[in-house]
Amino acid sequence: VQIELVTIGDELILGFTVDTNAAHIARTLAAEGFTIARRTTVGDDRDAIAQVIREALVRCDGVITTGGLGPTSDDVSAAAAAELFRRPLVLDEATFDRIRERWAQRGFGPVPDNLANQAMVPAGATLLVNSHGAAPGIWMEDPRGRWLAMLPGVPREMRGMLADVLVPRLRELQASRGGASVVVASRTVRTTGVAESRIAERVAGVNLSTNASLAFLPSWEGVDLRVTMRNVSPEAAERGLAESVQALRALVRDVAYGEDDDDLAAIVLDLLRARGWKAAVAESCTGGMLGMRLTATPGSSEVFVGGTIAYDNRVKVAALGVSEATLASDGAVSDAVALQMARGARERLGANVAFGITGVAGPDGGTPAKPVGTVSLAVDIAGESDSRTVRLIGDRDEIRRRATQAALMMAWRRLS
Ligand code: ATP
Repeated sequence: VQIELVTIGDELILGFTVDTNAAHIARTLAAEGFTIARRTTVGDDRDAIAQVIREALVRCDGVITTGGLGPTSDDVSAAAAAELFRRPLVLDEATFDRIRERWAQRGFGPVPDNLANQAMVPAGATLLVNSHGAAPGIWMEDPRGRWLAMLPGVPREMRGMLADVLVPRLRELQASRGGASVVVASRTVRTTGVAESRIAERVAGVNLSTNASLAFLPSWEGVDLRVTMRNVSPEAAERGLAESVQALRALVRDVAYGEDDDDLAAIVLDLLRARGWKAAVAESCTGGMLGMRLTATPGSSEVFVGGTIAYDNRVKVAALGVSEATLASDGAVSDAVALQMARGARERLGANVAFGITGVAGPDGGTPAKPVGTVSLAVDIAGESDSRTVRLIGDRDEIRRRATQAALMMAWRRLS
């Protein structure tokens, strides 16, 4: 099934809102084996919306739109569909009742007049249930079986409706029209701590399954290796991906901490939990980012006890017991200070494992010997500690994120 995607909204055209809906729909449908032939964005203009959809329907089997189904005067998607299919806009009583009920339940007071807008739909349209918000989606078909599906713009509502309503509907449609089931599927091996070109060197000779392609995706978290298989049966995709991922992992075992959406902080927490250990942090340049990463994972309280943000040297000394002499001799950004920070946090906070992070995040504060991006990291596990000083690249934000990830990686290597 060939599909075109139209995202609607002035905010998108102006770049104030990033079009994450299009990316999400494209990914989701590709995984289901539907081809997105083209993506278009159009402003909140009824005629322009109708024209874009009309043109798209000439080329493909169906069009999905997002946005413009809300209650305000700039929400004109339903009117555009009505114009396109030459139907009047009519009030759907059941929808209006539901919208009024939602409003009352929330205790918002008298119902504003414009709420009725969200219940105005093209006569004869099929309404797609929205269990995540007020406005229903709209489904219309022309006499030749070409269809239009309109979803709301709010990403949470759109994602919910895509999964609950639209994907099942498209699967049914595909089956009823006798389409073969082929998918695009991918799996990702997550690595960190090794540069993209090095990783590429290491996996250069990898034996991937037929039809599999490999992409390198670098970010502050590391380099993700994504294997994708296109236009194959779901079974062949699963088999091919499993083989390819196994072959890749064999070449990068020491730096491959997980797959797909795995988060390094969550993995480290699991390793600690399995040993019944507690963890603490002592952070300078990352200002609590490591604590944030660890506590972002549900259930972290079983493992994470807390930490110290020791930004000023006085805090490193008073709260963590870092020696003034070491600060003077080695400087605040040094293996020795990172080690003392980790030890201080472990001992004073009653943890088995502690991290120490101290560095120059920039943009100022660098010296020839310790330029911006120099970060000293230490991990103390039950009194056995190790440290390293690394040069990280990027702006302030990236350096802080990379430092956090590098500290987690040090722990992962020792625990796994
Ligand atoms: P509402 O009922 O909230 O008015 P709607 O269907 O009218 O929903 P819009 O008004 O077009 O949707 O957009 C609502 C919000 O959803 C926007 O403020 C924007 O933050 C977000 N949004 C809209 N389209 C997109 C998109 N393509 N990608 C990401 N976010 C989007």
